[in-house]
Amino acid sequence: MRVTRTVLLLSTLAAPIFAQDNSALLNQQMPNLLDTYKDIHAHPELSHFEERTSALLAGELRKAGYTVTDHVGVYPDGSRAFGVVGILKNGAGPMLLIRADMDALPIVEETGVPYASHVLAKTRSGQEVGVMHACGHDVHTTVLIGTARALAAAKSQWHGTLMLVGQPSEETIDGAKAMLSDHSTNASARPTWSSACTTLTSVPQAPSA
Ligand SMILES: [Zn+2]
Repeated sequence: MRVTRTVLLLSTLAAPIFAQDNSALLNQQMPNLLDTYKDIHAHPELSHFEERTSALLAGELRKAGYTVTDHVGVYPDGSRAFGVVGILKNGAGPMLLIRADMDALPIVEETGVPYASHVLAKTRSGQEVGVMHACGHDVHTTVLIGTARALAAAKSQWHGTLMLVGQPSEETIDGAKAMLSDHSTNASARPTWSSACTTLTSVPQAPSA
């Protein structure tokens, strides 16, 4: 939890444009973001099967004012991917892409936390496995939602276009390629910068004197 709180905090502290509004924004957003994180953690989905998570992300981006395309991506076998692209245009300027991955791992959760996953699912080869967000993609997706809200709320302080991406199938390494192969959506988009976040298993400590 400490890591989660820290990462959520960092997502709103990262941009200096929020410096003056940080405390109010954090106090307002943190309870809902923690609930969202626990909900995603309790409902993990394997690569290629991120239907619920992508729908949750797409819905939150729409509520935050983004124009959203979901079910983005085509795998080599022709099946659709659950990629999400949210666009927020805010006048002339660069395009910033911010990405979060959404899929979980075939691992039985044994943490014992109240929001632990009890999900069992079948892999694409038909094997039944436990499913767990053991790689932090629940945090990443939650951070993307918090970032989406913060940047939409701060529209008067920046110009350009935001492209927020929910990436499917990061663990199987074929989700990004599937999204890039889908020429029906955002084929002409060329971000000026791209950014993503990841989680650490420890929180840096202040050096001792
Ligand atoms: Zn991962």
